Amino acid sequence: MSGFSARNRQMMFEQLTEKKLDIIVIGGGITGAGIALDASARGLNIALFEMQDFASGTSSRSTKLIHGGLRYLKQLEVKVVAEVGRERAIVYENGPHVTTPEWMLLPLYKAGTFGKWSTTIGLFVYDFLAKVKKHERKKMLTKEQTLALEPLLKSDHLIGGGYYVEYKTDDARLTIEVIKKAVEKSAIALNYAKVIELLYEQGKVVGVKVEDSLTDKQYCIYAKKVINATGPWVDDIRELDQSKRGKTLRLTKGVHLVFDQSRFPLKQAIYFDAPDGRRMCFAIPRGNKTYFGTTDTNYDGDKIHPKMTKEDEHYLLNAVNYIFPSLKLSTDDIESSYAGLRPLIHQEGKNPSELSRKDEVFISASGLISIAGGKLTGYRKMAEDVVNQTLAIMRKENIPVDVVDVNTKLIPISGGDIGGSDKFEQHVQAAVHYGVNIGINKHVVESLARKYGTNYVKLLKYVDSIKGWLSAYQIDIESALMLKYGIEEEMVATVEDFLLRRTGYMLFDIEKAKQLKYSVAYILAEQLDWSEDQKQRQLDEFNKRIEDVKAIS
Ligand code: FAD
Repeated sequence: MSGFSARNRQMMFEQLTEKKLDIIVIGGGITGAGIALDASARGLNIALFEMQDFASGTSSRSTKLIHGGLRYLKQLEVKVVAEVGRERAIVYENGPHVTTPEWMLLPLYKAGTFGKWSTTIGLFVYDFLAKVKKHERKKMLTKEQTLALEPLLKSDHLIGGGYYVEYKTDDARLTIEVIKKAVEKSAIALNYAKVIELLYEQGKVVGVKVEDSLTDKQYCIYAKKVINATGPWVDDIRELDQSKRGKTLRLTKGVHLVFDQSRFPLKQAIYFDAPDGRRMCFAIPRGNKTYFGTTDTNYDGDKIHPKMTKEDEHYLLNAVNYIFPSLKLSTDDIESSYAGLRPLIHQEGKNPSELSRKDEVFISASGLISIAGGKLTGYRKMAEDVVNQTLAIMRKENIPVDVVDVNTKLIPISGGDIGGSDKFEQHVQAAVHYGVNIGINKHVVESLARKYGTNYVKLLKYVDSIKGWLSAYQIDIESALMLKYGIEEEMVATVEDFLLRRTGYMLFDIEKAKQLKYSVAYILAEQLDWSEDQKQRQLDEFNKRIEDVKAIS
């Protein structure tokens, strides 16, 4: 794939105005990304529009787990556990560079929500329903074994632990890899492209008016079907369509805190009951950091920049200090935070943590197809179901479409064509060998091969073109290669796109993000022809976002 670059935006928009597409997808989070991949893999002509950067919404603000949903077992949602469990394995096999197995420890306390027997049975059922691989099946641990794995845990009333596997991901990178694969299959995907109007003919939706927020230009683009995959904004698009009635969305906010390992030296990922018993919390080590969450509270504020409140911070610090009492973490120890919105389906009389996480499709009288709810983990299956429904409607309405039979279970996402997860370490070793032979530092190649899978070769192709940047812009070779690749092949258009969603630095290495901001702004200005003014606005915007990641609203 080439040309998935902000430089080609104008051309991409113009190309889209020239023909009637099969499907337009509104929303570039994981839901829209999955639909774009499924539809383009079936040979459909599709376009995806995202009003911010790809994955700027909930899809970069999750707990970052591809999980089998043990908590749904607690709510007796057996079918959901079975389905997400199976999907989890598929997501891993198709993208082992963005998904890594992570053993999770569930500490058991006397009089806690999870008893020893109920957990043994629960995890056994979970292994069975989720078809967990033999070497990843649960283990039950004694108190001593539990504390040996994580000495920071509260030991009072501890009676043992359950030990089982989940998968850790980078949600924003998972989304971009899915979109890149869709683009490879012929989809056109644009960020900073806001759908501001739906276009109708005889009461039926036949297209969208899109505004390019980087140039303020507007385009009318037509398609046989329009799919609304805008997560927390689903009801806003239904309002544009005047079809917001019946079931509606309820947004709940989830906050995570990030700590440096020097203050929160967690060795082992932990899943535990919050002290109020209302919800479960995760504490997860990630490189030199530990992140911890989450809250679940009703939300009706700013959807673009949700933030932590004082109450959220208090709730999370209370929970973390309850389970890891020796740490005595305080506000000063929080290095950054992030908040995401769950687009859940409203159910009368239920509190946030009781609401179902299942997805739901609404089809309006105009033919607009809206999809809401669901999880990162189930994105592939959800996309398959939505495209199946869309095709069924098209056939019923005698709308001609040419499709090929494909199974996205077997389609690796961009960079994931490694030959299966068990070949991943072999892939990394081969990459190191290749990189060292062409004179690249072993650690740099290893890191790139882990993050970008087989696309590491494409990054290395840019070595000569970024050599001058290293001294001119004071940037390290790994970041320079990622930035060049981001500009040429991942639609990076702002400083934040790169430092937050393509690299994760703003969340998990905030000092590096701050250190790189000028280098990135200067390089982007040179590469994308920004004026001095544009460069300064980008830096101001970035500084505001840096404040957001710690700010209290
Ligand atoms: P989004 O990612 O929000 O994408 C919708 C996109 O639509 C946005 O980017 C928005 O900018 C765009 N948009 C809106 N209006 C327009 C318009 N007019 N024109 C163009 N674009 C528009 N799931 C898991 O599987 N594992 C987890 O560990 C997990 N943890 C979570 C933790 C928290 C705190 C939260 C909140 C959710 C978590 N989830 C998890 C759920 C999961 O993250 C979400 O279900 C998923 O990311 C939703 O994706 P989406 O694409 O539907 O929405």
